Amino acid sequence: FADLDGLIWYNGELVPWQDANVHVLTHGLHYASCVFEGERVYGGEIFKLTEHSQRLVRSAELLDFEIPYSVEEIDAACRQTVEANSIVDGYVRPVAWRGSEMMGVSAQSNRINLAIAVWEWPSYFAPEERLRGIRLQISKWRRPDPATAPTDSKAAGLYMICTLSKHRAESEGYQDALMLDWRGRVAEATGANIFFSKDGVLHTPTPDCFLDGITRRTAIELAGRRGIKVVERPIMPEEMADFEECFLTGTAAEVTPVREIGPYSFQPGTICEQLIADYDAEVRRKNSAAAA
Ligand code: PMP
Repeated sequence: FADLDGLIWYNGELVPWQDANVHVLTHGLHYASCVFEGERVYGGEIFKLTEHSQRLVRSAELLDFEIPYSVEEIDAACRQTVEANSIVDGYVRPVAWRGSEMMGVSAQSNRINLAIAVWEWPSYFAPEERLRGIRLQISKWRRPDPATAPTDSKAAGLYMICTLSKHRAESEGYQDALMLDWRGRVAEATGANIFFSKDGVLHTPTPDCFLDGITRRTAIELAGRRGIKVVERPIMPEEMADFEECFLTGTAAEVTPVREIGPYSFQPGTICEQLIADYDAEVRRKNSAAAA
């Protein structure tokens, strides 16, 4: 990814893609003092941009550092980068980290850096394909107790177990992994939240030790508009035997049906179909409204 072309917003300036580098003694690299966001561009507009910028600022606060830009400035910088790279359907990756001025666990006065990269990433909307569903392995890694790690932060360090889980799942033929939490409850996939359905009602784990995703909240709102009830509650893995449909939600995953999780299987059906269509309409709504 480092040898692409384009412009990356780096501490206030647009720099050529291949010059957007950090020093090897960067605190964020050694001690994971780093937070990031993942956003999608649909028809040239970033979906729920301000919510993402707010989460970025909050993620940094939870790691005890302050990004030297306001939410409004971050919004503007994201838009500027999308525009400078002429991205129509793509992905935005803001990342903030402690720099390389001091080396050691304590780095109180290191510079806080912010960079924003964007790239073309069309969202292929092929419902038939999606409705086949993906397969998840149940990971041996568990989401930590909020007393063990700042679990509300989209912090780079929390992704260490996600990469371990996803690599293991992929090497054993699955597309992703389901992670339980430290209590053994169903938590989320490695980069997306999870929902189940039964008798026309949606069930999703209470987000008390993992991200309450922006897509998750959108899905809850969309389900509400259709009159589908959503119950947020603790879900134990054995309960998966009784659920009918299952899907993941996330900025990158959008609404992705699941057909298998370890020994449990699901049948992607009407609810998945409706939410895929509603989500697609929602992310493109403002654009078409603006064009009309
Ligand atoms: N959980 C994890 C671990 C994630 O990385 C993501 C993606 N940001 C999500 C959940 C879903 O969050 P969102 O819908 O805000 O993208």
